[in-house]
Amino acid sequence: MRTLQEVLADWEAVIGLEVHTELTTLDTKMFCNCRLSHDDAPNSNVCPVCLGLPGALPVPNRRAIQSIVMAGLATNCEIQRHSMFYRKHYFYPDMAKNFQTTQGPIAFCMHGHLDLTVSGPGARERPMRESLAADGVTPVSRAADGSYVVPIRILRIHMEEDAAKMVHIGGEEGRIAGASESLIDYNRCGTPLIELVTEPDLRTPEEARLFMEKLRQTFLALGISDCSLESGSMRCDGNVSLRRRGETGLGTKTEMKNINSFKSLHDALEYEIRRQAEVLEEGGVVYQETRHWEPGRRRTVVMRTKETADDYRLFPDPDLAPFDLSDEFIEEARERIPELPDARRERYEASFGLRRDDAAQIAGDPTVAALFEEAVTTAGEKVAPTVANVVINLLPAFGHITAAQAASVSALLAADAISFAQAREVLEAVDGTDADPERVVDERGLRQSTDSAALEPVVDEVLDRCADQVRQYRDGNTKVVGFLVGQCMKASKAAGVKGNPKLFNQLLTARLEA
Ligand code: ADP
Ligand code: MG
Ligand code: ZN
Repeated sequence: MRTLQEVLADWEAVIGLEVHTELTTLDTKMFCNCRLSHDDAPNSNVCPVCLGLPGALPVPNRRAIQSIVMAGLATNCEIQRHSMFYRKHYFYPDMAKNFQTTQGPIAFCMHGHLDLTVSGPGARERPMRESLAADGVTPVSRAADGSYVVPIRILRIHMEEDAAKMVHIGGEEGRIAGASESLIDYNRCGTPLIELVTEPDLRTPEEARLFMEKLRQTFLALGISDCSLESGSMRCDGNVSLRRRGETGLGTKTEMKNINSFKSLHDALEYEIRRQAEVLEEGGVVYQETRHWEPGRRRTVVMRTKETADDYRLFPDPDLAPFDLSDEFIEEARERIPELPDARRERYEASFGLRRDDAAQIAGDPTVAALFEEAVTTAGEKVAPTVANVVINLLPAFGHITAAQAASVSALLAADAISFAQAREVLEAVDGTDADPERVVDERGLRQSTDSAALEPVVDEVLDRCADQVRQYRDGNTKVVGFLVGQCMKASKAAGVKGNPKLFNQLLTARLEA
């Protein structure tokens, strides 16, 4: 197979995503009062409604609808005041009533969009050479460094309910094929689920990955779900087809179901684009089918071939009255929307002078952002870039560091009282406790002297002793300053002063350049 780059030079990939998100932060299910918890004993959170017993009547969960309206507003959708629930019929044990309650042609949220900023190596997946605006339905502008911004349209976000969880025993990878028995846990049945469907506006696996990531960050900020791809509370189906560059019609797509990581989404789409290109270039046809990504073998395999039309017998649910969302209801949802990742990132850049990538990384995770902001409040805004450095490059390695501890370590680092390596040592010592980093630094004698008067004699001594290196430096080999810093550190240790490599470097350079 040819590489992605080679294929995308000749073909345009057309990608659309369907993303299911369970509203895990709610207390109860979509149409009944059962507790929303997947960790309880199997089949303990069930009732006549979610078991589909005859005569049971559903009652919609107001907070679930508030959550989907928030999701719609945060993704620039039009909120539909009038909509209703439909029945989508199918027969499978994971839904005892034999239909899923979902929405019809009009969903609560229609016609939104998210703007993606694509930068770094991933931006190269979109060919650079031709006019970007002409190669698809979406206008994009490209910066000199190759990064670009592209709006991805969202067709709809509709409200539905999740099915029960099935566990197949004895088959490969827990799949039904080859299984000897299957177990059903109805605790998950009836979990409020929102499905977002994009227009086929994505053009590269990287764009698909970024869209999914941005959506996850947005939903996390809204607090409507724990958005765990790993545990399946956020799941994604990737649809992809190819067309020759310059063509405007759509090719036949394949769909990859239930992708459970950002990397798998990218890699599965990449594989599928390369596979389809090979099929088409050999004169074959792409069949409309559902495929399964096998991360271990790095390939997709056929799951099932698409029926000509899904015969779900979709019709309005007579048990549920149509909705008339009031302006008050929509405004209340709007008021609940917190600062979203893009706005937060811009604020971090503007008020704290963070680099865009750092700001985006922190702003993307509400828990990390909260800790960062608390630490900045304690340590002072001037220290914010150092706090960001600590939060991004040190904290992920530890279990539990408080904002106060992060603030203290950042302040010590910013004052050059400890080195980056020592910051790691200090964090390791206080991890999971409420110990004060300052205390650890003093107890271990880590504090470096930032008093140049105390360090000058050490510098003098080293420069006297290392005449060779001084000559080399003056002959243009400025790298020897590293050796001299090392000598100063050793000498200062011996003299009982704790040297500061950065300060030694400054003092040495000043003397050598003089
Ligand atoms: P299905 O009925 O197979 O689920 P839909 O028309 O509902 O298909 O579309 C599902 C997703 O696939 C949407 O995100 C849509 O943008 C995308 N899609 C539709 N047609 C194509 C195509 N030809 N190539 C790539 N993606 C497509
Ligand atoms: Mg589909
Ligand atoms: Zn129930």
